[in-house]
Amino acid sequence: MSRILFILVLLAVGFLLLKSWQRKQQLKQHNKQTSGKIPKNTRMVRCLQCGLHVPEDEAISQGGKHFCSLEHAKLHLTKD
Ligand SMILES: [Zn+2]
Repeated sequence: MSRILFILVLLAVGFLLLKSWQRKQQLKQHNKQTSGKIPKNTRMVRCLQCGLHVPEDEAISQGGKHFCSLEHAKLHLTKD
């Protein structure tokens, strides 16, 4: 009888360990997903034409100047 009890306890402990492991894995995945949404090294630059802030990798750069779009780059360059 005590042997059955021992096996039952063992199963219960194993089940609890499995559950906590699964929860840890889910948390890890969740953290990956949420941190993946925010780019780490995204510098914001300001459009010289309209003043809009855009990520550097999405901005149009011409001669060290940044613009939100090609139109604004053209507008600014023709203005000078
Ligand atoms: Zn602009």
